[in-house]
Amino acid sequence: MIPAALGGPPAFDRPLCVGAPRVEAETRALYYRLMDDAFDRAYLTNDGPHVREFERRIGELHQVEYCAAICNATIAQIILLKALRLCGEVILPSFTFVATAHAVLWENLTPVFCDIDEETCMADPKHVESLITSRTCAIIGAHLFGNVCDAPALEAIAHRLGLALLFDAAHAFGCSLGDRTVGGFGKAEFLSFHATKFFGTFEGGAILTNDSEIHRHSRMLRNFGFRTYDDVGFLGINGKMSESSAAMGLASLPRVSERIERNRITYEAYRRRLGAIPGISVLPVGQQGRSNYQYFVAFVDSEAFGLSRDVLVDALWRENILARKYFYPGCHKMDFYCNRFREAMPSLPVTDSVGARIVCFPMNLEFPERDTERIAEVVSNVKDHAREMVEWNRRDNSNASSS
Ligand SMILES: *Cc1c(COP(=O)(O)O)cnc(C)c1O
Repeated sequence: MIPAALGGPPAFDRPLCVGAPRVEAETRALYYRLMDDAFDRAYLTNDGPHVREFERRIGELHQVEYCAAICNATIAQIILLKALRLCGEVILPSFTFVATAHAVLWENLTPVFCDIDEETCMADPKHVESLITSRTCAIIGAHLFGNVCDAPALEAIAHRLGLALLFDAAHAFGCSLGDRTVGGFGKAEFLSFHATKFFGTFEGGAILTNDSEIHRHSRMLRNFGFRTYDDVGFLGINGKMSESSAAMGLASLPRVSERIERNRITYEAYRRRLGAIPGISVLPVGQQGRSNYQYFVAFVDSEAFGLSRDVLVDALWRENILARKYFYPGCHKMDFYCNRFREAMPSLPVTDSVGARIVCFPMNLEFPERDTERIAEVVSNVKDHAREMVEWNRRDNSNASSS
């Protein structure tokens, strides 16, 4: 078998992506019906009946008192930061989606990036603690890849020092750490229902909390700061979820356990095959509690594998396997953040090292087992052609830079 990069035919004739949104026939049918209800009511947005019902059920599923549905997770985070009336520095991992850092800066707070734990790829509480100064006002943890971060350790730090603690739970719909369900950690957590996530509502997000004041304030902020009709008390924004998104959420809720099971089967199929290739190791998922198995994440040890992660990913793209380097580079290595915080940027060796080795493989709800098999064959095959692949990559990159 000749790798596509060396002139062979690509392994797949259509691109396989991370998080392609697949919507079950039953979900579609229910969504259309719920949209008919919305049209019949002539109620399409502004805290409508679908949104209310969706909030009730998402709150229940995550075992929290309060859930506020928001138009997306980024605005949810911005609203939360504003509701907490924070000012100063916020410690958060660099190893996350850039939105987590952007929301902090958008609220005129200063992001201070912490390093991650090598095993979990999530915030290292010891490093978080070492970054705390008199200017620190909050810590934001991120639960990544269907795992929950060391939230109890962050809670202990935040509690001891009187800091606000929030969690980016964009990857953690329905996840738990032991007997604690995501939603109840820290002061509040925010979910994303972006179409590529485990549970999508086209665009969408939510703020989960057990704090009635945060909930009340967030609800006003998402609606331009209106306290009642005609009375604006705060600098609000338009963060409302539409009835269409809520209908999509309501239509998807009956499928949650089935989706988790489908993902788990794909995760296991990948793990068995890719995990057996020398130089590839797999991020364990769901070992500390419930997971949604939304992502399959592996690491490339370039010495043992014979090729770097970057060459492997380039080779996979030629095969129509659109693997992603999540989250590379860390926020602290992105031009925008580098230029802005040049001197203040801490060195984050674990983030850099994990970022250079990590690969996120394509996955969705209808991923046939034979595709995981084929992908593992391709990875093995690329490894078997390591020497030619290095040559190819050097040529290819010099072509790219000269053209
Ligand atoms: C997707 C994602 C976000 C942003 O969510 P949106 O709903 O698209 O705004 C934030 N953090 C992480 C870790 C994400 O994966």
